Amino acid sequence: MKLAQFNQGRIGIVQGEMIFDVTDEAGVNPALWPPTGMVQTIAQFDQIRPKLEACVATRPGQTLHSVRLDAPIAWPNKVIAFPANYHAHIEEMEKGPGLISTNKTGGQGFFLKANSSLSGPSDAIVIPNVPGREVHHECELAIIIGRRGRNIQRHDALEYIFGFCCLVDVVIRGKEERVMRKSFDTFCPIGPYIVTREEIADPNNIDMELRVDGDLRQSANTRDLIVGIEEMITMSASVMTLEPGDIIASGTPAGVGPIKPGEMLTIDITGVGRMSLPVIADRSPSHGVWNVQSNR
Ligand code: MN
Repeated sequence: MKLAQFNQGRIGIVQGEMIFDVTDEAGVNPALWPPTGMVQTIAQFDQIRPKLEACVATRPGQTLHSVRLDAPIAWPNKVIAFPANYHAHIEEMEKGPGLISTNKTGGQGFFLKANSSLSGPSDAIVIPNVPGREVHHECELAIIIGRRGRNIQRHDALEYIFGFCCLVDVVIRGKEERVMRKSFDTFCPIGPYIVTREEIADPNNIDMELRVDGDLRQSANTRDLIVGIEEMITMSASVMTLEPGDIIASGTPAGVGPIKPGEMLTIDITGVGRMSLPVIADRSPSHGVWNVQSNR
């Protein structure tokens, strides 16, 4: 199943070029704040799934292009992110001038991105006005957690996955705290919808690519992950309780590079989806903290 959020908090099932509104059967009030409708839908999915599936057979759908797709999850408990998680990317970072050196063993753990950095498939990526800095794209598979868990065993880890979506981990390169550099609004586009786990035959064999204005920048397969999908779940759950709707950004492959206002970024993950996102400029002045250190 492909589960989307659309038209400001409505829940829909995507089938082909159509979307079926199941907001009522999911028991979601789209006007509610905070906007946790998809998190609730995921948490109770096993119980409501038959009702949702019935809607596709019994209701008229709308064409996908007639609605506005939102970020499939707006208000998760957390966004967990794994750093450089493919060998080829670690090599390129170590060669780069003054860029942070990384740990080849994959033993450096994970970090968090602000939940408020999430944006959706219909949103632009807004580049902050920080002169002299590069803003880079990172093409990543997002793992969506389906149920609560702590201290999860490796052989159970896949059971905790609700589904997958595309995720772009956007970052200002520099030496400031990573969370600040990665947490601007719109620095975590996700979507276009969540593809539930059973639709992906082998999560450890998924092709992905990212293009900027049509030029191929990143191309990888999840079989080349350093910290694999099961291990990301067991490591995260060894530290904190995973909740339904939590998002794990699985780390970037090689080929990261700058994006600039006026460009169009496209992320495409086989079997998961595709999003094209315009890149625009924020003209408002940046805080002085960005002047303290240079890009190098
Ligand atoms: Mn990343």
